[in-house]
Amino acid sequence: MHILVSNDDGYNARGLEALVEALRDLAEITVVAPEVNHSGASNSLTLTRPLAVRHAPNGFIYVNGTPSDCVHIAMTGLLGVRPDLVVSGINNGANMGDDTLYSGTVAAAAEGYLFGVPSLAFSLVDKGWAHLETAVDAARRLVAHQLAQPAGGAVLLNVNVPNLPLDQLRGMRATRLGKRHPSQPVIPASTPYGETVYWIGPAGAANDASSGTDFDAIEQGYVSVTPLRLDLTDQARLGHITQWVGHLCA
Ligand code: MN
Repeated sequence: MHILVSNDDGYNARGLEALVEALRDLAEITVVAPEVNHSGASNSLTLTRPLAVRHAPNGFIYVNGTPSDCVHIAMTGLLGVRPDLVVSGINNGANMGDDTLYSGTVAAAAEGYLFGVPSLAFSLVDKGWAHLETAVDAARRLVAHQLAQPAGGAVLLNVNVPNLPLDQLRGMRATRLGKRHPSQPVIPASTPYGETVYWIGPAGAANDASSGTDFDAIEQGYVSVTPLRLDLTDQARLGHITQWVGHLCA
């Protein structure tokens, strides 16, 4: 068994090191991760320059590109073999609801999924690693379960872990994505040279956190496991848009 591990927080991130330690005796591990933090990079690929691939003293491979670059390069030549699993994380912060569209953690896993490899993304919901051991335990158990008893097909699983001591965790739940309110406003700041610059504001609070959502599972103290797909087609609206476009041609 061979697992390709990546993340979006960068190859020095604590969550990545902890994840690799947790999985080391389950399979052969290759780490290909971004050189620096690319949180919020989504599925971006670097197409305007070549990418450098370097080896850290601990054996991790790092790339001066995005999470998607890392997994893409690994899958299309660097690795030389097809991994049995792609695992991303453990992210420093939640990736629930709409976060999944922006997340580089999810994107690294999604890149494996696009190549037909089962892929899991792990995030600890609060920043700061307070209960990283809980996310490590969840990741180890889910990966071991996937290796022993595959979920079937090229699944893409988005896993969020509540920031609780392990003995307060209530279990795991399969969930659907909730929804967030729109993001909070941009934060203006001044540079020493008098230019006004803007920080992107924090994500919105949960809007749909109803029963069955990732937000609800986390709130209740459960690990949230959401199966994702990447086909964004709005099937329910397709018939209406077919008619609407048809009127233009009539
Ligand atoms: Mn991140």
